Amino acid sequence: MESVRSLIVGAGVSGLATAAALAERGDDDYLVLEADHAIGGYCKTVRRDGFVWDYSGHFFHFKHPEIESWLRARMQGQRIRVVDKKSFIAYQGRQIDFPFQKNIHQLAQDEFIDCLHDLYFARTQPPVGASEASFKDMLYARFGRAIAEKFLIPYNEKLYACDLGTLDKDAMGRFFPHADLADVIRNMKAADNRSYNSTFTYPEGGAIEYVNALASAVRPSAIALDEAVVAIDLDRKVARTSRREIAFERLVSSAPFNRFVAMCGLDHDAAVFRSNKVLVFNLGFDKKGQPGVNWIYYPDRERVFYRVGFYDNIFDTDRLSLYVEIGFAQDAPVDVAGTRQRVLDDLRREGVIADHRLVADHSVIMDPAYVHITRASMAEHARLAAVLRARDVHSIGRYGGWTYCSIEDNIVEARALVAGWTKA
Ligand SMILES: Cc1cc2nc3c(=O)[nH]c(=O)nc-3n(C[C@H](O)[C@H](O)[C@H](O)COP(=O)(O)OP(=O)(O)OC[C@H]3O[C@@H](n4cnc5c(N)ncnc54)[C@H](O)[C@@H]3O)c2cc1C
Repeated sequence: MESVRSLIVGAGVSGLATAAALAERGDDDYLVLEADHAIGGYCKTVRRDGFVWDYSGHFFHFKHPEIESWLRARMQGQRIRVVDKKSFIAYQGRQIDFPFQKNIHQLAQDEFIDCLHDLYFARTQPPVGASEASFKDMLYARFGRAIAEKFLIPYNEKLYACDLGTLDKDAMGRFFPHADLADVIRNMKAADNRSYNSTFTYPEGGAIEYVNALASAVRPSAIALDEAVVAIDLDRKVARTSRREIAFERLVSSAPFNRFVAMCGLDHDAAVFRSNKVLVFNLGFDKKGQPGVNWIYYPDRERVFYRVGFYDNIFDTDRLSLYVEIGFAQDAPVDVAGTRQRVLDDLRREGVIADHRLVADHSVIMDPAYVHITRASMAEHARLAAVLRARDVHSIGRYGGWTYCSIEDNIVEARALVAGWTKA
C-alpha cells in the first residue's frame, strides 16, 4: 500500500495552503487529494465570452500584510485591482448606504423616526445583552424592532434560509457590522461606513489567481485531481479513495466537517450540522448598467435574490456583468431554470436591467455555503475535533471548521497548523 506522511483532503485554499506551508519547510512527504477535476474549491473562476466570474463574488481584504505580499510575489504579471467598496441597500425604491443600521437617516422620515425610536429604547433598557440568546434576539436587543424587521431579519433570513432564532448570537463573528447608538448618530453628521472590507482587492484573472499563487509553491505531482476520499480508517490510519488505499501519519481535511466525520465512521449528532446552500447566477449583458456600485443588498422578500454584485464596476468594463446570490434551505429542491427566469424578472423590476440583452451566463450551487453556527454545532464540532486531533487528524478551513471565515483566515489557520508540527 502507498503511504505518505501528510495526507491532505481538498485542493481549495485550505488544502493548498497546508501543502505550501509544508513545502516551504522542506517537507515534501505530502499528497493532496481533490475530488473535483480542478483545484480551487469555492475560489474557482469561470471565463465566458470575455466575462470573468467567480463561483460567487469573492473579494479580498488582508489583515496580514505578509500573507498578501507572499501571494502577490507569486502572481507576477497579474494586475490586482484595489477597489473602494460602494455597496447599497435597495429599500422602498431608494438605495441607501450599507450598513442599514448606520444609515437610517437616509430613509423616508417616518421610517427614520421608527428606527431611531426603537434603537434608542432598545439601547437604553438595561441590561443590554441579557436577552441575546440567539442571533435574532441579538438583533432585536441591540438595534430595536424597526431596524431588525426592516432590514436585518429579512435580509439575513433570505441569506441563511433558516429561522435566525436558531443561530448563535455570534453566528457571523467579525463579519457582522455592529454599531451602537453613538456610531449611528455620528454617522448622520459625517458618513463613516468603514467595515472590514472597505477597500478590497481583486485580481484581473479572478479569485483563482490567489489559489494559483498557493499552488505554485506545491509540487504539481503531489496534487491528485478527480480522486475523492471515500472512507477513513482512523485505527489503521488508512484513507480509501475512489482509486486506492493510502496509509498516512497525519491527515488534514478541508472537506465539510459533517461529511468528513461520517467518512471516519465517528459516532456523532448529524442533526446539529445545518447549513444553507447558495445558488449563484453569473450573468453577462450586452451593455453597461448602473455605474459606481459594487454590490446591492435586497431585503425585500418579494425579490428572489438577497444580493447582486457588479463585476463590470470592479473591472471598469463596458458590459454589465453580474453575480446574483439566492439562499436555499439545506433540503430545499432547487429549480435552476425557474429561478433564473425569476432572477431576470426581478432584475428588471429593480431597474438593474432594462433593455439589456443577456449574452452569457453560468450558474453554480454552493452546498454548503453559510453554515448555521449554533451552540450545539460548536459543542459537537469541538468534541469531535478533539477526538480527531488525538489521532493526528485535523479538520480545517471554512467547512472543515464549520465556521464563517475568509480565505485569509484559511491561510492563517493552515500555516499555524504546520508551524505547530515543525515545533513539535
Ligand atoms: C457565497 C460566498 C462568498 C464568499 N466570499 C468571500 C470573499 O469575498 N472573500 C473571502 O476571503 N472569502 C469568501 N468566501 C469564503 C471562501 O470561499 C472560503 O473561505 C474558502 O474558499 C474556503 O476554502 P477551503 O479550502 O477551506 O474550502 P473549499 O473551497 O470548500 O475547498 C475544499 C475542497 O475539498 C474538496 N473535497 C471535499 N470533499 C472531498 C473528498 N471527500 N475528497 C477529496 N476532496 C474533497 C472540494 O472539492 C474542495 O475543492 C465566500 C464563501 C461563500 C460561500
